[in-house]
Amino acid sequence: MEGSREENETCATREVEAKFVIVGGGIAGVTCAETLADECPEEKIILITASPLVKVVTNYQQVSRTMETFDVEEKPSSTVESQCPNVRVIHAFVSGLQAEEKMLTTSDGKRVHYDKLCICSGGKPKLIPGQNPLVVGIRDTESVKSFQKKLSAAKRIVVVGNGGIATELVYEVEGCEVVWAIKDRSISSAFVDEGAAQFFLPHLNQKKKEEASALVKRLKYTVENEGGSALSPTEGEGDGSFGSALGPDWATSRHMKGASSVCPQVHVDYQVEVVRVMDRDQMSATHLKTHTPTHFAGDSEQEWPVYVELSNGCVYGCDLVVSATGVIPFTDPFLPGNTFEVAEDGGIKVNHKLETSLPDVYATGDVCTAAWERSKLWLQMRLWTQARQMGSYAARSMVAATRGESISLDICFELFAHVTKFFGYKVVLLGLFNAQGLGNDYELLLRQKKKNCLFRVTRPTLSIWRRPKNFFLI
Ligand code: FAD
Repeated sequence: MEGSREENETCATREVEAKFVIVGGGIAGVTCAETLADECPEEKIILITASPLVKVVTNYQQVSRTMETFDVEEKPSSTVESQCPNVRVIHAFVSGLQAEEKMLTTSDGKRVHYDKLCICSGGKPKLIPGQNPLVVGIRDTESVKSFQKKLSAAKRIVVVGNGGIATELVYEVEGCEVVWAIKDRSISSAFVDEGAAQFFLPHLNQKKKEEASALVKRLKYTVENEGGSALSPTEGEGDGSFGSALGPDWATSRHMKGASSVCPQVHVDYQVEVVRVMDRDQMSATHLKTHTPTHFAGDSEQEWPVYVELSNGCVYGCDLVVSATGVIPFTDPFLPGNTFEVAEDGGIKVNHKLETSLPDVYATGDVCTAAWERSKLWLQMRLWTQARQMGSYAARSMVAATRGESISLDICFELFAHVTKFFGYKVVLLGLFNAQGLGNDYELLLRQKKKNCLFRVTRPTLSIWRRPKNFFLI
């Protein structure tokens, strides 16, 4: 693997090689590249990404031994190259992996040879089945732009899903009626239980974000030319599937306004699933009547471009359906022809060194599934905190393997820790914060201080802190 870039890459064969190759310009991939560059300034590193802008962690702060906060900024790929001179960023879509030959192929005809490879290709949104163009998923900058455009003409939307994306969206959208369809008994259940959900509920229909919070003191980079779009397998203009997942202020920093002058109106339907999505013709072929929540405008006779039938029998007419039901690890280009062990959730299984089941191939971030024996207080959640931690640890693991050194699991995988914001509140999640794995066999002590900050602690964490009981404090 010796030789200069010019010697190793000829235009005729489009052969490229490097000691370390990383696929993905999201937080996991960029952190991995930066850490590798830091650890091995003499080695050649290639970062291949389909997205024109890369995600870079900034303002990093270690809050405690396991807790950290940081911002995520979108930057041109040249930023990584200028900060890490031994990293070269290639803007291309990886279309195949020949693991036995230690080679990747790209959709523009390059063949990239590696000593060690790290796959950081993230996830793709799970969409409600069916091909209705009025059903949108939210994942990257391009999909948000497309959503904003459609929202600006919408008077009512239906949001399906109960995770972080849905929670943030429902809170941020203004000038539009919102039906929020969730499969659980309480809102935001991926992060908070029913008690905390009650605390947040009044904020759904309150005046939304403060003016101040819309002010983001960060440089924003945008892509103006077509050549700068996220690449798809056919290298056409990005279709929203292959850009990096969004950064922390994806919703607060954007204009999320519908076409109506109504104050925030959110109606939540609990414990429901989508039965089907219908266009106007399909709806009129049924004998179903639409349902209009009492505090919404319009009536059951009003016509809509799209209709959503829920499992509780309610049919809602709306202008747009947002499918925010999570992401699936994006493994498509890497699995064919290779014998990766894949987890039930579709992620590439990795061991405690973030090695996949194939030699010299690592995986980190949203694309991987942690398959090691985990600490009792840690769980995998596809969040940017873990994308950063895994990206950094994967790099150190790759370097250790190259040098024949051993490496022990990073302390960050001992205790789950995540800092985020819901409904304008800063939320700190620690350990098995949602009583994961406890079934119904636990007690909950609840103390609420009106309009104040929120602390959540679950039993395993308390046992570390030597507290006597399960405990939940708002
Ligand atoms: P990604 O950021 O998805 O990056 C994947 C990269 O791989 C992209 O650059 C893509 O272009 C590239 N790529 C993929 N396939 C190929 C290929 N074949 N060839 C070349 N390049 C390829 N997390 C939080 O912690 N808090 C939140 O509030 C939060 N909100 C979110 C809101 C939205 C709308 C979304 C979608 C996610 C949110 N997340 C949040 C999750 C978080 O963004 C992800 O967990 C994190 O960004 C994953 O990083 P990653 O690097 O693994 O993947």
